Amino acid sequence: MPKSNPYDILIIGSGPAGLSTALHLAQVAPELAARTLILEKAHHPRAKLCAGGLVADAEIILERLGLDSSEVPHVDVETAHFDFAGKGLMISMPRKHTLRIIRRDEFDAWLAGKAESRGIKIREGVTVKNVIPDKDGVTVETDAATFRARVVVGADGSNGVTRRCVLPDAPIHTARVLEVIIPTQPSPKFSEFGGGQGRGREGAAYFDFFPVPAGIAGYTWDFPTQIKGQPMRCWGIYDMNIFADEKHPPLKETLAQEMARHGLDLAEAEVNAHPLRWFSPFNGFAVPRVLLVGDAAGADPLLGEGISMALGYGHVAARAILSAFTRDDFSFRDYRWRILRSPLGQTLTARWFFGHIIYALRWRWLQSALWRSLNPLIFVLAWLFVLNWGKRMR
Ligand SMILES: Cc1cc2nc3c(=O)[nH]c(=O)nc-3n(C[C@H](O)[C@H](O)[C@H](O)COP(=O)(O)OP(=O)(O)OC[C@H]3O[C@@H](n4cnc5c(N)ncnc54)[C@H](O)[C@@H]3O)c2cc1C
Repeated sequence: MPKSNPYDILIIGSGPAGLSTALHLAQVAPELAARTLILEKAHHPRAKLCAGGLVADAEIILERLGLDSSEVPHVDVETAHFDFAGKGLMISMPRKHTLRIIRRDEFDAWLAGKAESRGIKIREGVTVKNVIPDKDGVTVETDAATFRARVVVGADGSNGVTRRCVLPDAPIHTARVLEVIIPTQPSPKFSEFGGGQGRGREGAAYFDFFPVPAGIAGYTWDFPTQIKGQPMRCWGIYDMNIFADEKHPPLKETLAQEMARHGLDLAEAEVNAHPLRWFSPFNGFAVPRVLLVGDAAGADPLLGEGISMALGYGHVAARAILSAFTRDDFSFRDYRWRILRSPLGQTLTARWFFGHIIYALRWRWLQSALWRSLNPLIFVLAWLFVLNWGKRMR
């Protein structure tokens, strides 16, 4: 197949990580952005399994790119509840929403449109099959053509081909995640279970850590959302999967149990699953000429949050690429340190650490105490180490 070579930088994947890398390049190195092409196997708006919770850090990074996420259809959540079996810590932001919920087909298509309007080229419907770096550049084989570039960015998500090609032996840490979308108005059958929507939950998001004592390293969630303007609820369960060798209850049954507690029948909903590759400071992040961003590099292990992280990786990667072209050094030896010392890397490292601690404390009484009585401590730790990193991304 012929090698087409008008671009110096190829970004594989146009999710938030790939698009953020391109948008940050357009901001810090417009001459490089003009020589960048994104290859995307799907066509926007494309489906992406995700609860769509945007934290404040994501909005801050977007604002610094001159983007306003309120242009995307969304639901703003006033309060977020971090509970153990229904009781615990409530967080709300003064004069601001705590969480903004978007649908990923709409959000990613909007972001792709913004990138295109700033001159970034995206070729949709092209699936990358192989990524082969050598000392002079990278060959990228796709189902459409073979490309050659000086730098490749692997932004192709948790199951991406880039990482598998360039770091085939690297250990993989993968969380298990299930999600269901249900109508806000329950069917009459649900009211037999005494529920409807339960606790008057319309404007709130709930995280419940009740599965931890059973060996599930995570929580169930319940968010408001909308589909084509119709109010819906998004339920799901996250398991960091650090006790993979142990026997524990299946995720689906655990989610069904929690939904039943609120009068909802999981059997009536379509359950979707997707793995989530999470960050460890020991992950591989780059090889010469190839960088990984977003889930390909590693999302938040503690809560499985990845949209703000994907946007933050774009900030770091664009500067690493600019530095590589300036110094004519494409080893990307310093990319790990760029990530780890950035506010993004610091919060990811803290979440990796807390994930291993909090989910290992499996005594029911201790989990209950953590979320119900020790919540000032949790709040201070979260404020110091976990939240507000987006503001510090300079
Ligand atoms: C069930 C679930 C719920 C979640 N909920 C939340 C949440 O509420 N909030 C939050 O912040 N995070 C959430 N996450 C995590 C979040 O979805 C991810 O962290 C985020 O999508 C990562 O973005 P990304 O750009 O790295 O990858 P992706 O969004 O996966 O984008 C990768 C892109 O690459 C393309 N691609 C893949 N392979 C190829 C190929 N071979 N060739 C060309 N293109 C390719 C894909 O089509 C896709 O467009 C959730 C994840 C799951 C599974």
